[in-house]
Amino acid sequence: MLIHDKCMQAGVVGAGGAGFPTHAKLNCKAEIVLANCAECEPLLRIDQQVALRFADDVVNGLRFAMEACGAKEGKLCIMGKHKEAIAALESACMPGIKVFILKNYFPAGDEQQLVCDATGRIVPVGGLPLDVGVVVQNCSTLRNIARAQMDIPVTHKHLTVIGEVETPMTIEAPLGMSFRDCIRLAGGPENEDNYGLIIGGPMMGFTEKNWDNVVTKTTAGIIVLPKNHPHLMRKDAPQAFNHKMARTVCAECMMCTELCPRHQLGLNVKPHLAMRAAAYGKKYEDNGLFSCSNCGVCSYFACPFGLSPAAITTEAKAAMAGSGRKPEKVQPQEAMPSREYSKVPVKRLIARLGLKKYDVAAPFYEEPIYPDQVRMPLRMHIGAACEPVVSIGDAVNVGQVIAQPPQGKLGVNIHASIPGTVQSIDSSSIVIS
Ligand code: SF4
Ligand code: SF4
Repeated sequence: MLIHDKCMQAGVVGAGGAGFPTHAKLNCKAEIVLANCAECEPLLRIDQQVALRFADDVVNGLRFAMEACGAKEGKLCIMGKHKEAIAALESACMPGIKVFILKNYFPAGDEQQLVCDATGRIVPVGGLPLDVGVVVQNCSTLRNIARAQMDIPVTHKHLTVIGEVETPMTIEAPLGMSFRDCIRLAGGPENEDNYGLIIGGPMMGFTEKNWDNVVTKTTAGIIVLPKNHPHLMRKDAPQAFNHKMARTVCAECMMCTELCPRHQLGLNVKPHLAMRAAAYGKKYEDNGLFSCSNCGVCSYFACPFGLSPAAITTEAKAAMAGSGRKPEKVQPQEAMPSREYSKVPVKRLIARLGLKKYDVAAPFYEEPIYPDQVRMPLRMHIGAACEPVVSIGDAVNVGQVIAQPPQGKLGVNIHASIPGTVQSIDSSSIVIS
């Protein structure tokens, strides 16, 4: 069976982003494959530990990814501060693969920043790394690619549980485990009365009110914060409030644009213009908006008034896409000479976000985890939702296929993450306990 097919069968999707099916991403020709072990989001501790503990798998996964797309060169991109992980990766390296050291900045793990740092190439506006001959794969995805070649399916996800918990930890959670169970394992609050959650990193993650929602193939972190934490409140601010602030406070100082990492790459991303349009109640459309990565630097670091240009820019981008406008590919340009000096140091970012208190180690939790129940969403990836292939009352084992993508549609298999009996099936999930 081909490398791609094994990935599809094993249910491998991008673990560090929106969950694009890996077999489809590897179905291409590229010169270079980059392993993204940057993990620049504050407080998350996954890639650094996966790279350290499973270096052989990560390097093997990179080798398979290179073979699948005919690439001759592979680079393991990781921040210089993770010395033990770097040593582990270096000792696992093989011909054609080497370690590339990144600076400690946000968003070093944004794939377009990574491509520029590791290859000197600039992805065009409206384009993908493949437009410049590069494929980027997340560190955990590479491990899953290697395991898929041994017919080991994706049943668990590494994620960091941190913030207002007694024992911050990085766990290998069965897919479908509830956030509530993850928080309980780390000694966090029993209920949501006084606490809120960010799922993912503090910059690009989203706030979550429902603690009974579950871990999927892309969940990277659960950050528990007091409900009145300023960062949580900012992330939750109503869009009407963001518009009002754009109208009444924005000084058009352009700091949001000056520090925008995509703007610094030479792409035409100008959040201050989106703010100006919002202030006058006008529509803002520009092809450069398609290159906004929603990284949040403009809102949470750059703006001296604490405004939310990222929310306004994201809204304008969504409106453009919603009106049917497609990104127009514009030839790569030079990165700006100021790019090196505009990179946001992660420590300063953590201080700015008010998260210094939570910037602690989150070591691996070594015990196997068996929650009483899991709810397996039928959509854990970009593409079509899967269709159940089990019935209520069926006994299932870990790794058994329980749902498959519809014939001919983009998607990957879903496998049981705990042994048990299928309790219920509806249009969006399968419950096993
Ligand atoms: S940094 Fe803030 S005040 Fe300055 S232009 Fe951007 S949104 Fe307006
Ligand atoms: S969120 Fe803001 S800083 Fe980040 S890419 Fe978009 S406009 Fe630039």
